[in-house]
Parts: sequence; C-alpha cells; structure tokens
Amino acid sequence: MRPPRTIIEPFRIKTVEPLNFTTPQRRRDALREAQFNPFKLHARDITIDLLTDSGTGAMSAAQWAAMMTGDETYAGSESYYRLESVVRELTGVRHVIPTHQGRASEHILFSVLDVKGRCVLANSHFDTTRANVEYLGGEAVDLLTPQGADPRTDLPFKGDIDLVRLEELLEARCKQVAAVLMTVTNNAGGGQPVSLANLRQASAMARARGVPFVLDAARFAENAWFIHEREGDPRTPREIAREMFGLCDAFTFSAKKDGLVNIGGLLGLNDDTLADRARSLLILTEGFPTYGGLAGRDLDALAVGLQEVTDEHYLRYRIASVRYLFDLLDRGGVPLMRPAGGHAVYIDAAALYPHIPPVQLPGVALCNELYLEAGVRGVEIGTLMFGKRDACARHELVRLAFPRRVYTQSHVDWLGEVILEVASRRERAPGYRIVRQGPVLRAFTAELAPLT
Ligand SMILES: *Cc1c(COP(=O)(O)O)cnc(C)c1O
Repeated sequence: MRPPRTIIEPFRIKTVEPLNFTTPQRRRDALREAQFNPFKLHARDITIDLLTDSGTGAMSAAQWAAMMTGDETYAGSESYYRLESVVRELTGVRHVIPTHQGRASEHILFSVLDVKGRCVLANSHFDTTRANVEYLGGEAVDLLTPQGADPRTDLPFKGDIDLVRLEELLEARCKQVAAVLMTVTNNAGGGQPVSLANLRQASAMARARGVPFVLDAARFAENAWFIHEREGDPRTPREIAREMFGLCDAFTFSAKKDGLVNIGGLLGLNDDTLADRARSLLILTEGFPTYGGLAGRDLDALAVGLQEVTDEHYLRYRIASVRYLFDLLDRGGVPLMRPAGGHAVYIDAAALYPHIPPVQLPGVALCNELYLEAGVRGVEIGTLMFGKRDACARHELVRLAFPRRVYTQSHVDWLGEVILEVASRRERAPGYRIVRQGPVLRAFTAELAPLT
C-alpha cells in the first residue's frame, strides 16, 4: 500500500480562537482610519494575519503545562537550569544566556565583540542586527551571492554567503573583522536557507584567522530541514542542527521564531571571558543571568518549544504549508520570489502591478487590496520599508509570513482564492503617496493616501 500523499497538520486542536470577520464597508473604514498603513490596523479588523511569524505561533499543551511548573525564583530558578540543559544538549554551547528577545542578544554580543571601528561580515544582516552593529559604531557588510540576491533564480540555497568575497575581505581586513555572521535562514532574503557545505567553509575560513563565527539562529530548525531535504543529508534535523551550532563560537537567537514561544531570546557563547562580560551587561539591561528579562514560566515554555521544533513531522508540515500557498499562486500566474522559503511567500508587487511605479509603492498597493478584499494582512518589503526619502528600494515585495501551527490547509486554500481574485483585477489597483513620515523606520508609522 502506498502511504497517503497529503501532508497533514501534525496536531489536533484543543483550544480555539475565533477569527474576526468584517464587512467590505468596515474594511474600507478601518483602512482609512489606519491612514492606509496596515501596520496601524487593529487586530479585531483582521481575518487572517500574515504580518509576521515572530511571536505569533501557537504553543502546545505540553508548553502550557510546563508554564505551570515555572519557577519564579529571582536567582537560581529551576526553570533556568531546565532550559540550560535543553539548549546545551541541542547546541553543545557552554554558556546559555536568556534575553527578552533576539535584538537584546545582538546588542550584548556586539558590545562584547567590540565592533566599534570594525566590521561584521555576513550572508545578510537582519534589520535589527544591522542596526545594532551600526549603533555600536561598526560596519555591517552583506556578502550574499549574486544568485541569492536575484529573486528569480530558482536555486536550493540562496542564503549562502559568497565565499570568494568573504575570503578576500578576511584577507584584506583581517584585523578589523569583529565577526563572521550567518543568518539561518536568511530572513532579509526571503527565508532562503544556507547549505551545510557553505556553513562549514565559512566557519573554517573565519576560525583559521581567529575571527569569531556567529550564527543568527532564529530559524535554525527550518534551515536544518532544508539541509535534510535539499542537500540530501540523511541525518535528523536535530543532528544537523547540532552540527550547525558546533561550527559557531557564539549564537544569537530570537525564540519568537523557532523557539515556538511568544516572547524570548538566547545568547550562546563558548568563550568564558566573553560570557563574563556578557552577563555583566545582561544584569545592566535585561536582568539576573538566570532569567534575563523573562519570567520563569517563559523559560520553561521555551525549553519545551526547543524540543518540539526539531520534530520531523512538524518541520515537514511547516515547510510544506508555505510551499502549498507558493504552488497555488505560482500555478495562478502570480509573480513570486523563488523558490519558496521557510517561513513566508513573497509576491513580486512590481511585476504584478507594472502600472504602479516604485515611488507609488506597489507593495503597499497590494497589501491594501488584500486587506480590502478579505481582511488579509501582509507586509510591504519595498520602498516604504527600505527606500529613503529620495530613493526607491531594489525590490517591491509583499511578504506573507506564516505563524507557526496557527492556520490550517483550508485557511491556505481560502488565502489562495483571495490572492488570485486580487491578482485577476490587478489593473484597477491604485498607487499610494506618503502624506507624513517619521525620520527613522517610516514604514511603521507613515500616513499614506491612495492616488485615484
Ligand atoms: C526576528 C529576528 C531577529 C530579532 O529578534 P527579535 O526577537 O525580534 O528581537 C534577528 N534576526 C533574525 C533573522 C530575525 O528573524
């Protein structure tokens, strides 16, 4: 007998939360009240929210149960020791430092690595990573391969770092390189994975020169699954993850992604002196080293989440559900960033809306059409987010990010219908102009208006 081909959600549902349904009139009003910027919509006006996969996942019964055993002792909490042993077993790291989220880990790490006046070489820096390096007086250099930077190439490991340029820069600027950093998967580049071969070589190059090799491990489990699937590595995702962590001297981790929790972060370090300095900074900004800005119950939920996230049934479903939407849209002729990534589908809004030039924000136009059609929220990754006052971004994309374990296949089928409907009347979508904007991170607060 052949096993069934359908990949099912590897869970059944014990607690449910109703979706919010709205009328077309309410959506028109809500979007106007939000000044046409979906970041300003209220949750009650949204039916399916694909704004981000960060902190939006569903916890398991085992995680909720573990929260009840959380130990809220200020110093020496048992919850911390449970988490520490899970993280050590998963990663092999010596020092496990909890933080309230990934960016706090980044700030502490780049402080103790003394990035001031030096550079960090990465496949790609995530926004908060770059911002922390630059805030501390360092230079954040992205060395993605040219194929990785092209949204149309269909290659298995578009998150790989360009090893030739890495070698050149390590050679030319060795003393000024504070760290080599690999973001797995590459969030900024569409959730594209990094191959194990690339990680091994980049790690060897950095370590040969005594430069610390750092993993931004937010989506380490999704990356390990891609290595299993696309590099044909027969080992389990957990065994692969263990090797990935073993290649690095330090890691930062946003537990809001592959920690399967709503808040939390980690900083992992092998060097004793750096760990001492990191813990001093931690006390200054986050809290005592056995809680680091989290409650004991948060630490326990994370300890369980880190065991669940490498489950093969979970990862197979996770990656398949993103690819399922990708395939629905691809068959319907919607222009997409290729191939499907680990946590999101990216629509090429510039290609979908050739009548809207980048200054008129085609990504925003598509987000707002999706919202008006059915209450779906995505996010623009284009000129509003990354352009400057007088310059457009390189790509005009809309990211539809999948919260973990939240939506089912029928939600995705419904999404496919909504998006294809919006795409079928593409020529009617208006462009937008910026009415007001802030001096930094304008995407979050800008006021917009349609050009009709
Ligand atoms: C989310 C994220 C971060 C920052 O983590 P926060 O928990 O949001 O502070 C850093 N790097 C990557 C790749 C991320 O996706």
